[in-house]
Amino acid sequence: MSVSVEVRDLSIVFGSGPSAVKVLPSVSFSVKAGECFGLVGESGSGKSTVLRCMSMLTDFWKGEVLIDGRSVRDIPLIERCRMLQMVFQDPYGSLHPRQSVRTVLNEPLVIHKLDDREERMRRAITDVGLPVSFLDRFPHQLSGGQRQRVAIARALILEPSLLLLDEPTSALDVSVQAEILNLLQRLREERGFTYIMVTHDLAVVDHMCDRFAVMLRGEVTEILPHEAIATNGATHAYARELIGAS
Ligand code: ADP
Ligand code: MG
Repeated sequence: MSVSVEVRDLSIVFGSGPSAVKVLPSVSFSVKAGECFGLVGESGSGKSTVLRCMSMLTDFWKGEVLIDGRSVRDIPLIERCRMLQMVFQDPYGSLHPRQSVRTVLNEPLVIHKLDDREERMRRAITDVGLPVSFLDRFPHQLSGGQRQRVAIARALILEPSLLLLDEPTSALDVSVQAEILNLLQRLREERGFTYIMVTHDLAVVDHMCDRFAVMLRGEVTEILPHEAIATNGATHAYARELIGAS
């Protein structure tokens, strides 16, 4: 259960006239079905914007995003949600303080009119390594790592094939980061997901990703296999500098 992704000449300009800001001049890359593809680069280089375009959270872009050869623009919202999901850096930000874990996980099941909701919620929470009793907890009763596990369960509950991960471990302690990465790795091995993962940590790329793109000021400077980190096999000066500094 995985899909291929092709991003072709993606460009985005915020605003218009003299104040227009070109955030992505033109970005292209392709990701094979079942691959974990990394996006790295300095803060503000447009990594999150790429993911937001892919999931149609922002719609002001030109170019093509193809999932298994279909343009995301042509995939109805309800189908798109079952195909791709995002996980964000700050799990607190994506969980409502007054909503229990059960409410968070139930909502997409109701929207998508799925049966066996209790069973699906129990499976989702145990899949991310939390006890079923946690369904009745609220965000303030969870640690940062547990909140991120709930956010991942929320992303998994519709059984998507593609996960867009925007710095999913950056807000967590180092030991908790490793736990979440191991969880993501295990889920990928079990389900064959396609992952596109933004991170600023090249050790995470080396551990998790098959290939990665280095972004600079809204452009992909180079696409490299993860082995290039150990040997610093980059040819572009910025990519070399980034890998050299890690
Ligand atoms: P990254 O995730 O690599 O840190 P982002 O994709 O968040 O970078 O942002 C890239 C650039 O786009 C930044 O300079 C940011 O200020 C700008 N940007 C993002 N969203 C908007 C917006 N809605 N309007 C104007 N500029 C934006
Ligand atoms: Mg970002």
